[in-house]
Amino acid sequence: MTNQHREPSFRESVDLMFNRAVALMDLSPGLEEKIRVCNATYTVRFGVRLRGGIQTFTGYRSVHSEHMEPVKGGIRFSLGVSQDEVEALAALMTYKCALVETPFGGSKGGLCIDPRAYDEDELERITRRFAYELIKRDLINPSQNVPAPDMGTGEREMAWIADQYARMNTTDINARACVTGKPINGGGIQGRVEATGRGVQYALREFFRHPGDVARAKLSGKLDGKRIIVQGLGNVGYHAAKFLSEEDGARIVAIIERDGALTSNTGLDVEDVRAWIAGHGGVQGYPNATYTENGAAVLEAECDILIPAALEGVINLDNAARIQAPLVVEAANGPVTAGADEILRQKGTVIVPDMFANAGGVTVSYFEWVKNLSHIRFGRMQRRQEESRHELLIDELERLSRDRDLGWTLSPGFKEKYLRGAGELELVRSGLDDTMRAAYQAMQEVWHEREGVDDLRTAAYLVSIGRVAASYRAKGL
Ligand code: GLU
Repeated sequence: MTNQHREPSFRESVDLMFNRAVALMDLSPGLEEKIRVCNATYTVRFGVRLRGGIQTFTGYRSVHSEHMEPVKGGIRFSLGVSQDEVEALAALMTYKCALVETPFGGSKGGLCIDPRAYDEDELERITRRFAYELIKRDLINPSQNVPAPDMGTGEREMAWIADQYARMNTTDINARACVTGKPINGGGIQGRVEATGRGVQYALREFFRHPGDVARAKLSGKLDGKRIIVQGLGNVGYHAAKFLSEEDGARIVAIIERDGALTSNTGLDVEDVRAWIAGHGGVQGYPNATYTENGAAVLEAECDILIPAALEGVINLDNAARIQAPLVVEAANGPVTAGADEILRQKGTVIVPDMFANAGGVTVSYFEWVKNLSHIRFGRMQRRQEESRHELLIDELERLSRDRDLGWTLSPGFKEKYLRGAGELELVRSGLDDTMRAAYQAMQEVWHEREGVDDLRTAAYLVSIGRVAASYRAKGL
């Protein structure tokens, strides 16, 4: 962390939040520590022959909790990767999976690398070599440890990892389930790329279904017209901003990126900004908005909702007191430090915590893993059957109208919409929406009803830790 104040590390910050929640619980002695600690972290240093020499890379795979297996969590490619970071992220995966009821323990991996410094061929060799090191120790395995994309990785890297696993396990019929977030033609699932952003949208929609909660954030009404600041237009920030502006009528009044921020009171065209970044390497020079070089200052600007969707620790002791947004939605993992969390809570800021807000990714990863293990696409068996039953009903209504001369006509477009059976994408969205609603309601109940709980993060921890503890108890621990 680069702020002036000496703040705890990311992992310590997660532990502090955990401790705050666990103090309100009545866990058996020792169980609290058993849940908090990270079970194991494997560090690997390996060499790859590149550009006429050998380059050595450092990678990690951390397993936080094996109360359920496989353990699950992304692999990050970034120069900021460290043991402390992967351990914090692995712990968050445990709590996240428990909160959204995906049957996994928590894990996370990382490779200390700037992926933009290598061409595709080099990255493939580095990724395969890293995957080889993890596969041979069962740290990538369909029944034990299933990675996914995270910062700096995506479908392409997951496809390389899946292929590497298949080469090393030629008779494993479930090989494809060794990693999620794969491209659709390589065993992936519809809707996984945008899943985390979609989850942020569903999380906010659910929040706005509860006027009392909205009022606690000193807001009112619906998402329509709300002014949103998004920090980071990567996969998560981009999709969240796109869906919220295009489908819910929210206004993206600022986008903060590495090289500065864009602001516009009338709202930014997310697609257009994304295309500009792709063509110019940053937001600077974008014509249809005001550019500010000091992007961090824009985090403190006035708005209704602030969505940090990039790195951890961006809201910290340095700037927390100046954050004006009454509602912060943590699309990134750990964007608010434990110290900042305290300050914001005292100010009455409502924080929708990371382990809930960004759980869309792992939720759809779960669907992908189930699809891989069942070897069949969702909807394949039911779709046409569903359509023919709907058709039966429509035919009957039309016959009644005709025979009895009732003059009924269906509204335009209804028949087409009603007749169409759900395909994989519709089912994935429905499963994700249901998951986000159920998780919110579980958290909300604790937030409203448990004495001593005055924020959603503590409520989320209570739900998750309670579930992890119950599964340890079921194992006789
Ligand atoms: N990396 C994502 C996260 O932090 C997704 C993890 C997964 O799908 O396993 O939640």
